[in-house]
Amino acid sequence: MPAKANPLFDLTGRTALVTGSSRGLGRAIAEGLGDAGAKLIVNGRDAGKLKPVAEEIRGSGHDVIEAPFDVTDEAGVEAAFERFDSEGIAVDIIVNNAGIQHREPMVELKLSDWQRVMDTNLTAAFLVGRVAARRMIPRGEGKIVNIGSLMSEIGRATVVPYAVAKGGIKLLTKGMAAEWARHGIQANGIGPGYMLTEMNEALVSDPKFDAWVKGRAPAGRWGEPKELVGAAVFLASPASAYVNGQMIYVDGGMLSVL
Ligand code: NDP
Repeated sequence: MPAKANPLFDLTGRTALVTGSSRGLGRAIAEGLGDAGAKLIVNGRDAGKLKPVAEEIRGSGHDVIEAPFDVTDEAGVEAAFERFDSEGIAVDIIVNNAGIQHREPMVELKLSDWQRVMDTNLTAAFLVGRVAARRMIPRGEGKIVNIGSLMSEIGRATVVPYAVAKGGIKLLTKGMAAEWARHGIQANGIGPGYMLTEMNEALVSDPKFDAWVKGRAPAGRWGEPKELVGAAVFLASPASAYVNGQMIYVDGGMLSVL
C-alpha cells in the first residue's frame, strides 16, 4: 500500500521546505515527502545547481518550487519567506537539514571555522524555524523537523564544533516544542548515523574508517539516504500528532553500543 493511501501518513495539500535539498539526505527526504503527497520547496545555496535537481524531482511527478538561499544569511532567509507570502505559499513543514562538516583537531581550529559550523548547523535552524513559526502560529499548525546527528548525543575527536552544533539541535528542538506546542506546532528531530552521502565521501573511501563504521554499527553497514524517509514522513504527518520535542535516531543501532 503506498504511504499516501494511509491518511495518518498523507501529506496531500501540505507544502514542505527542505533546506539543503540539492543533494544527499535533504534530497532523499524531499523526494520522500513528495511521495507522501507534499508540494516541495527545494533549497541550496546555488541556483544553478538547484535547477537541474528540481527538474529531476519534477520529472518524477512532484510539484517543486526552487528557493535558493543561504540558510546562514538572516536577510536571505527572511526574503525567501516574503517571496512565499507574496506567491500565496504557506509552508506547513520545515526540514532544517542544510549542514556542513569540518574535521580538525581543536588546537588547530580557527574561530572562523568554528563559527561557520555553528552558523550552518545550528543558528540556521533557529533562523528558518523562527521565520516559519511566525507564520505557523497564526494558522495554529506546523511541523518542524530538525536534522541532528548521532553526535547530538556523543562527543568525538576532530569534529567538536559539529558535535556541539548537533547537540544544540537537540535542545533547540525541545525549546521550539516548549514555546510553540500551544500554537499547534510540533518540533522534532532526526539523528542520522553514518550515511552514504557526499559529506562522507572521504570517510567511505578510507578503508580503516569504512571498517570502523561497519564494525561499530550493529547493522554492519552505512545507512542509505532513503532510510531517513520513514522518520521524516512520520514526523511531518498526522501520525506524529502528539509527539513533540523528540529525537529519532536512524543510525543502524550505533548509539546503542557506542
Ligand atoms: P551533503 O554535504 O551531501 O549535503 C549538504 C546540503 O546542505 C547540500 O544540499 C548543500 O547545498 C546544503 N547546504 C550547505 N550549506 C548550506 C547553506 N549555508 N545554505 C543552504 N544550503 C546549504 O550532506 P548530507 O546530506 O550528508 O547532510 C545533510 C544533513 O544531515 C546535515 O545537517 C548533516 O550534518 C546531517 N547528517 C549527515 C550525516 C551523514 O552521515 N551524511 C550523519 C548525521 C547527520 P549547496 O552546497 O548546494 O548549498
